[in-house]
Amino acid sequence: MSNLYALFAANFPADRSTCCIETHDGLEYSWHDVEHASARMANLLASLALPAGSRIAVQVEKSPEALILYLATLRAGFTFVPLNTAYRAAEMAYFLNDAKPALLVCAPSTFGWISKLAFAAGTRQVFTLDDQRQGSLLERAAAQPESFETVAVTDDHLAALLYTSGTTGRSKGAMLSHHNLATNAQVLQQYWHWQADDVLLHALPLFHIHGLFVACHGALLNGSKMIFLPRFDSATVIRQLPRATVFMGVPTFYVRLLADPAFERSTCASIRLFVSGSAPLLLDTFDSFIARTGKTILERYGMSETAMMTSNPYDGARVGGTVGLPLPGITVRVVDEQRQVCAPGVIGAIEVRGPNVFKGYWQMPEKTLLEFTDDGFFVTGDVGCFDAQGYLSIVGRSKDLIISGGYNIYPKEIESFLDELDGVEESAVIGVAHADFGEAVVAIIVTAKGATLTEAGVIAAMKASIANFKVPKQVHFVDELPRNAMSKVQKNVLRERYQLVPEVVALP
Ligand code: AMP
Repeated sequence: MSNLYALFAANFPADRSTCCIETHDGLEYSWHDVEHASARMANLLASLALPAGSRIAVQVEKSPEALILYLATLRAGFTFVPLNTAYRAAEMAYFLNDAKPALLVCAPSTFGWISKLAFAAGTRQVFTLDDQRQGSLLERAAAQPESFETVAVTDDHLAALLYTSGTTGRSKGAMLSHHNLATNAQVLQQYWHWQADDVLLHALPLFHIHGLFVACHGALLNGSKMIFLPRFDSATVIRQLPRATVFMGVPTFYVRLLADPAFERSTCASIRLFVSGSAPLLLDTFDSFIARTGKTILERYGMSETAMMTSNPYDGARVGGTVGLPLPGITVRVVDEQRQVCAPGVIGAIEVRGPNVFKGYWQMPEKTLLEFTDDGFFVTGDVGCFDAQGYLSIVGRSKDLIISGGYNIYPKEIESFLDELDGVEESAVIGVAHADFGEAVVAIIVTAKGATLTEAGVIAAMKASIANFKVPKQVHFVDELPRNAMSKVQKNVLRERYQLVPEVVALP
C-alpha cells in the first residue's frame, strides 16, 4: 500500500480550488492550499535529516495548520504524536521521555518551558505554531518548495502514536499504522454513506482519535469541506449547523445543545448525520434529541488502540443505549472468564480483531502481549454484551468493575438506576477500598437544578429497586463530574478523592 495521505489526495475534488477548510473567522483553505502547504512542511521535515521512523510530537491549539502538519508528517513518512493542549509540565515530561520525539512543535507561549523538557528528553529541534498562523514552523516552511513526492510506506509503517486517555491508569502510546487508519476511514466512508456534497462541522479537538481520525479522515477521504471551530460552543454550533450536513461530537456536545433554547428542529434541517462517541450517550439525551430535532443520533464505539469497531447503522435501526453492530471486516466478541463466547444478554469482556487493530503499545512489548489473545484478538478492557439482534452495549471498563463481598458490580448498571431518580442529573459510581469487603460502592451525583436530594433518600430509593449489595453505601453530591477533554468521566480522580470514605462505612 502507499501512504495514507496519497489515499486522501487521490480523493480530493477534481477542482482543487474549492474550499477544503473554512475557519470560524472566515478564512478559506482550498484543496490546493492544503496540498501545497503540506508539501512545504513535508519538505522542511525532510530537510532536517531526522532519523527514519522519527516521532514528531505536537502540542498546539487547533488550526488548519495543525491538521496540515499532521498531513505533512504522513507525507514525509514520520510518526505523528498529538498531545492534549491541557497537558502541563509533569505530563509533558512523561510523554516526551516516552515517545522521544526527534522534533516537537508547541505554541510560542509554551516554548520556554516545553523546549527545556524536550531538549532534556533528547529532542533535536523545537518549532512553534499558534492558531494565528504565527511561529517558526511556518516561517521555516515558507521557504520550501510547494510540491513534495509523498513517501511510499509499507502497510505497517507507523502513522501515529496516540496516547490513551489514561482514565484508568498511566497513558500508553498506541502505535497505529497507515493501513490501520486507511482501512478504518474507508469502512466508515461506506458505512455512514459519505456523500459528494457533504460539509462537516468540526468542533472536536485535533489531538484525539475522534476529531483527527474519525472526523477529519472522513472529510479528507471524501473530498468534503470542513468548517473548523476552535472548540465547542453551543451558540456557534447552532449558528453554523445550517451550513453543514454532518456533525460529530462527544455526548456533552449534545447535552449542551439540548440545554440551549435556541437549538431547534430548524437548526438541524440540513444535517443528515449526527455522530456521537468517545463516552456513553445517555438514553435520555438520545430520546430528547429525537423529540427536539426529529433526528436520531448515530452512536459508535472505538478507542485509540482500535479506531472504530462498532457503529449503529446508517439505514437500519439506531438503538439508543447501544453502540451498534461490528463494522464490516471487523470481528467483535464478548467472552466470559474462560474465553467462551457469551450468549446474547450475557455480560463479558469485549475483544476485537481486524485490520483496524493497532500494532501494539510503544516500547511495551510485554504489556502488548498481555492484551492480545492467542487467536489474535485485542482485549479492549471494556465490558459489555450483545443483544439478540447483534447490537453491542457497553457496561463499563473492566478496571471499573467493582467487586464487593465477592459480587461483581457494574457501575453503569447502578448509574442508570440513579439517573432515573427524580432530581438526578447524572451520576458516577465507583468502588473504593474497604477492609472487609474489598470494595464498597460509592455514588457521586450531580443534582438537577432546583432539586434537593439527600443521601438517605437516594439510598432508600435504590434499596427499593436493586439488590442490596449493589446499593451505594455512600452518596456524595457535586456540581459537576470531573471529565477529561473527550468528556469521559475521570473515575481515577473520583477514586482518589473519595478513597478514605469507606473507613466510616458499615457494610451489611
Ligand atoms: P479513547 O481511546 O480515549 O478513545 O477511549 C476509548 C474508550 O472510550 C473505550 O474503550 C470506551 O471505554 C469508551 N468509549 C468510546 N466510545 C464509547 C461509546 N460510544 N460508549 C461508551 N463508551 C465509549
